[in-house]
Amino acid sequence: MTLLSISHVTRRFAGLTALEDVSFDVEPDEVVGLIGPNGAGKSTLINLITGITPPSSGDIRLRGESLLGVKPHLIARKGIGRTFQHIHLFDELSVLENVMVGFDSRMTAGYAATVLGLRSVWREEAQVREKAMEILGRVDEKLLAQCSALARELPYADKRRLEIARALATGPSLLLLDEPAAGMAPQEIGALADDLRRLNREGMAVIVIEHKMRLIEGVTDKVIVLDHGRKIFEGSFDLVKRNPDVIEAYLGR
Ligand code: ADP
Ligand code: MG
Repeated sequence: MTLLSISHVTRRFAGLTALEDVSFDVEPDEVVGLIGPNGAGKSTLINLITGITPPSSGDIRLRGESLLGVKPHLIARKGIGRTFQHIHLFDELSVLENVMVGFDSRMTAGYAATVLGLRSVWREEAQVREKAMEILGRVDEKLLAQCSALARELPYADKRRLEIARALATGPSLLLLDEPAAGMAPQEIGALADDLRRLNREGMAVIVIEHKMRLIEGVTDKVIVLDHGRKIFEGSFDLVKRNPDVIEAYLGR
């Protein structure tokens, strides 16, 4: 069964159409790349899928069930995890605590929270702590070894991987990543690609927004290209990189 189905989705913001009649499917074992120039509507699409903002028209279904009107934290609980284009970590919490935050789907969904309020969230703290350790180890042994460090002490690339670890806390079947490789060096992108392939082999579908074509080429089964809110192409990266419309709108620049 198709995991996620985006159908005829349009999103308007006062006078501006950020997405127009966009449709595509994501299968349970797929890694889908979402590419296109700045302002194409990529982040908006993730915000629609996660319920942060509603579509103006169209439908979004998870395993056949419409997500329209479902609150972000409930969408997270249904198995959609995400990271943000700009780093969303609690700098003064430890690496481990940042993953523990992810067990509260309200946090994962992007609600603001005070650090003081977090402790009340960790009712079964020992159990949550143990699960958070397990997830950190799954993403990166090196990150696990640094679990007591403060998030702000991590190098940039590790911060981005920590965000992925946090997104895994809700046990997602679909992971949405908004420019996870931005600011990463080539070898760091290679490590991130390995992480994503491993998570995918473990049964997770992924939608990844990225400008670093090295990552898109290395991990995706298919790529959706957006330009000015419209889907201009869908296909393997091999086809995408040779498509004249895509080259003109994006890759050729
Ligand atoms: P991308 O992630 O592809 O760079 P975005 O989805 O962030 O693009 O933005 C697409 C368009 O929608 C841009 O023109 C942006 O300014 C506009 N936009 C996004 N969010 C909002 C908002 N909350 N209010 C008004 N305009 C928005
Ligand atoms: Mg964006």
